[in-house]
Amino acid sequence: LKVAILGAGLSGLACAITLEKNGIEPAVFEHRSRVGDRFINGEAMLSLLNRPVQDSIAFLSEQHGIYLKPTAHIRRLSIHSANEQAVIEGRIGFSNLRGRDEDSFEAQLGRQLRTPIRFHSTHTYEELVQEYTHVIVATGDGKDARRLHNYTEDLSVTLRGATVEGEFDPYSVTTWLDYDMIPKGYGYIIPFSSHEASVAIAMPDLPDGNTRDTDSIWDAFFRRVCKDLGQELKVTDQFEVSGYSIGCCADSRIGNSFFVGNNFGSVMPFLGFGQFSSLLTGIYAAYDLCGKGSYEELTAPLRRSYSNSLVLRRSMESLSNEQLDRIVKAMNGYIGQKLFNTKTIDVLKHCSYLLRPYVMLQK
Ligand SMILES: Cc1cc2nc3c(=O)[nH]c(=O)nc-3n(C[C@H](O)[C@H](O)[C@H](O)COP(=O)(O)OP(=O)(O)OC[C@H]3O[C@@H](n4cnc5c(N)ncnc54)[C@H](O)[C@@H]3O)c2cc1C
Repeated sequence: LKVAILGAGLSGLACAITLEKNGIEPAVFEHRSRVGDRFINGEAMLSLLNRPVQDSIAFLSEQHGIYLKPTAHIRRLSIHSANEQAVIEGRIGFSNLRGRDEDSFEAQLGRQLRTPIRFHSTHTYEELVQEYTHVIVATGDGKDARRLHNYTEDLSVTLRGATVEGEFDPYSVTTWLDYDMIPKGYGYIIPFSSHEASVAIAMPDLPDGNTRDTDSIWDAFFRRVCKDLGQELKVTDQFEVSGYSIGCCADSRIGNSFFVGNNFGSVMPFLGFGQFSSLLTGIYAAYDLCGKGSYEELTAPLRRSYSNSLVLRRSMESLSNEQLDRIVKAMNGYIGQKLFNTKTIDVLKHCSYLLRPYVMLQK
């Protein structure tokens, strides 16, 4: 086998490490100058969204030999709507760093790989397909799968964020759901440590290329975060990602090309979480190449999660701020605790089954 991996991010590196463990040395092509050569931000993996897996970090190491150290395990999640607040405690998930930090997930994966990565690559998919027996498309952008006519975009999102200094509990994350402030989207704060955190908003783009006043939205959100946390946060870095594509590939494998990570459809439309699924698609593509399973079959549950998650996104977009208040109020107590802490409740699956007829009626 002569395997090329295009992109040394989460899915590409997870694939490369798994191939190496099974005696296949892939050629890894990365167009940037090093692994994780982009802004630093805090991300999270929520156990609620990865059912039946409760502990994603333990699962990756025990089941798949992929070792990742998160920044912290999350024990407390606060959800603010316009007028309500819910606090949920338990095994919520993990926070982690991405980008240029030496502890970022991609940097940790890069250190687990023996094969040298070919940086500053200008190779295209079309060139690699000619030269290699198998190509793993791991460029982290559904637009690449779309260019190859193998992807449907369901929404695109603008993300804006900042690194801030203040006082934080690293085991606690907070999120804001207030459509008057962030239309159809949400905001969050994920601490990196007790004195540094990522603050960000994510919101769906308007149809037909219409734009929102992101500056005003960001300013209002940032004021709200400072007010709710009772601190004046100091911004030390900022980023903005626009047109971030969320969609799913039609075929996870075409010939000997495998679509992994965001090119597969790893980002779940509901809240934009994609790390866990990205890692799994990379691992599963490697299993297929090693004769340990079929990529299409292994990824089938991830495809179902994507479709369930899309139902939740569409339902969520149709809610009013009053309805968000009611949901957040209901989450504050037994229901919230139960949803987040019961491994057997597949929230994506059950909620989407309940909401599917409602979404169909809206069409
Ligand atoms: C701001 C932001 C916040 C997010 N927050 C969360 C979160 O909290 N939780 C969560 O689970 N998910 C989150 N996500 C989604 C998650 O980061 C992605 O799903 C995941 O990183 C996708 O992994 P990947 O392997 O597909 O791509 P990436 O990890 O992005 O890797 C792609 C790699 O390919 C390289 N590349 C691109 N084009 C080429 C090319 N032509 N040739 C060679 N190399 C190329 C890139 O430089 C990069 O190194 C967030 C995403 C963003 C943008």
